[in-house]
Amino acid sequence: MISDNSVVEVEGKSSSFLSSLIEKSFKPKGIYVHIPFCQIKCPYCDFLSGIPPEDELVKRYFFALKKEFLMYSEFLDFSECSTLYFGGGTPGLFPSYLSEFTEFLRKFTDFEEISVEVNPSSRLLPSDFSFATRISFGIQTFNEKHLMFLGRNHSFYDSISCLENFSPHFSVNADFIFGIPEQSPSEHLGDLKIALNSGVRHISAYLLTPYENTPLGVKVKRGLVKLPEDVQPFFEVQSYLEEVGMIRYEISNFAFEGNFCKHNLLYWNRDDFLGIGVSSWSKLGNVRFANTRNLKLYLSQIEREIFPVVEIHHISKKEELYEMIFLGLRKVSQGVDIFNLNIDTEEFLKLLFERGLMQFLDFCDGKIKIKKKFLSIADFIIREIFDVLDLTFQSSEIHEHKNPSHL
Ligand code: SF4
Repeated sequence: MISDNSVVEVEGKSSSFLSSLIEKSFKPKGIYVHIPFCQIKCPYCDFLSGIPPEDELVKRYFFALKKEFLMYSEFLDFSECSTLYFGGGTPGLFPSYLSEFTEFLRKFTDFEEISVEVNPSSRLLPSDFSFATRISFGIQTFNEKHLMFLGRNHSFYDSISCLENFSPHFSVNADFIFGIPEQSPSEHLGDLKIALNSGVRHISAYLLTPYENTPLGVKVKRGLVKLPEDVQPFFEVQSYLEEVGMIRYEISNFAFEGNFCKHNLLYWNRDDFLGIGVSSWSKLGNVRFANTRNLKLYLSQIEREIFPVVEIHHISKKEELYEMIFLGLRKVSQGVDIFNLNIDTEEFLKLLFERGLMQFLDFCDGKIKIKKKFLSIADFIIREIFDVLDLTFQSSEIHEHKNPSHL
């Protein structure tokens, strides 16, 4: 999104990384734990995932997670940490490891929300997850033909029975994918209705994206698979969820009141969180940092008590502003309060009008929001707004040069 030279490769140089943590003594509000194992690797998935869950490797990995957390616990204060999120990968394959790990973390804080991503093929019982409060099922679609295209290893019946069995006991999310070749908007709407009838309180719906490094991405690039050109009708049918009382609290996320995902809100609100496990990201203050994506390296570094961090990015003031706009506009029901942005708002609004961008936006009570009928081109609108921001910065720099009193 933002290019800058402040990305630093830090492999093996954990001491300077540590000293920056010691100085600040941050209080993360959430912990993300990445579990990279899956029974299969889906052809569209670009997460670090799909690693076969061999017993010894899984055992070693969970041991390393504890050790990594303990390394951080010497420097960070977890007393205000209220969310725990097990993502992946397929963490739901390992309920007893997750339960034990959660017990271990509870020595450091009380969690308000504990989420686990589960694959509907896992054939597990709600009682296996009694340590959790929120279960997120990767349903993707109920349609068998589309499930086959996505390379999923579960059936319509697996999905229905999971949602119906778990919904009475947890705040349940169903993840969907739309824009699958040959999928119609009404089929997508049918998926959403079935999920609602099965008792879910939260729905995530993501557009199928052909990431370059995936088999799907390669096929799309070679012209072997064609994705739908106009996805706006899919966004339109999703308004059904709002008609039945859900709130679109983020562009891809809908929930009934009281069922918003508190952990994901930390990301969208730019709060501090710690990620542990291979390939995980963290944000503490104005620094984002990432662990290695190499599982072997992750394990060996942790076993030698070296932080497996391979990338540190210092967020500049300008990048902070971009993030506030990008994440704020994704929170579609809330929008961005432009008077909180610390920019020349008059100039910013003038440029938005001149560039014709106000046709895509609602402006009310100092907040800009993307109009619902343009959500399918949100990325384009946000990119255009970034251009306007660049111009606003340039003009304020010119303004400063013309006014020596600023110096
Ligand atoms: S099960 Fe989920 S995490 Fe694993 S490969 Fe498939 S989409 Fe990715």
